[in-house]
Amino acid sequence: MNTTSQNTEVNSKYRCQKCNDTSWLNNEDGTYKRCECFEKEYAERLWSNFGVKPGEVKKLNEYKPYDELTTMARDKAIEYVHNFDKVRTLRENSFGLFGQAGAGKSHLIIAVGAALLNREKSPISVIYMPYLEVMRELKANALDDEVYLRISSRYQRAQVLIIDDLFKDKVKNGQLIKFGNQYIGLTEADMKHIYPILNYRYINHLPTLISTECTPKMLMDLDEALAGRILEACGDNMVVFQGTKYNFRMRRFVK
Ligand SMILES: [Zn+2]
Repeated sequence: MNTTSQNTEVNSKYRCQKCNDTSWLNNEDGTYKRCECFEKEYAERLWSNFGVKPGEVKKLNEYKPYDELTTMARDKAIEYVHNFDKVRTLRENSFGLFGQAGAGKSHLIIAVGAALLNREKSPISVIYMPYLEVMRELKANALDDEVYLRISSRYQRAQVLIIDDLFKDKVKNGQLIKFGNQYIGLTEADMKHIYPILNYRYINHLPTLISTECTPKMLMDLDEALAGRILEACGDNMVVFQGTKYNFRMRRFVK
């Protein structure tokens, strides 16, 4: 009993009890390896670059469902976190929330990501990718190969990637934006930057958490091949919100 309390006292100085904040662990053969807290802190720094602190985001149990679909989304999110270790290497290992604004899609996928990043037993290095901001970052660095590859591979190779508001710039009032009678669709530049990320993750069975105002049908209209891969990777781990009731501002007037 005595030793236990002593240990707790000694260890409590450190944020990471495994490596005592050195970020290195001894292998049995005398070599060193990185502690899992190293990846976690790296991921946390990246979240902070976008003004989000994974320790402070709203939790899954703070999400307030208000009808059948939002309840289903919450339950599927909880189930996904719970089963993550079982599904992470499978084909259907991703999680997607599609359709109308106002259902709290971002809240849910960010909460799922934070739960995996902050879990006690083998935390997952979850990288947060707000779609528009990262597209801007990639486009701005397109001419510098070294910087570009470093940024792009960060999102390609993340253990888990959150893509928040995918194709946000293609949607207005719940519809794909049109120019005349044509959807503006994905430009060559869009494809150049997002395709390698989604494709790498698909091929390597890396889980992605996606929120988008696009419905699956809209994704298909944008790019069938890409949409197919996103939907296939989500499998049953998805909810599609359709109808004006999911627009929060609208809801206040409807009530
Ligand atoms: Zn550590």
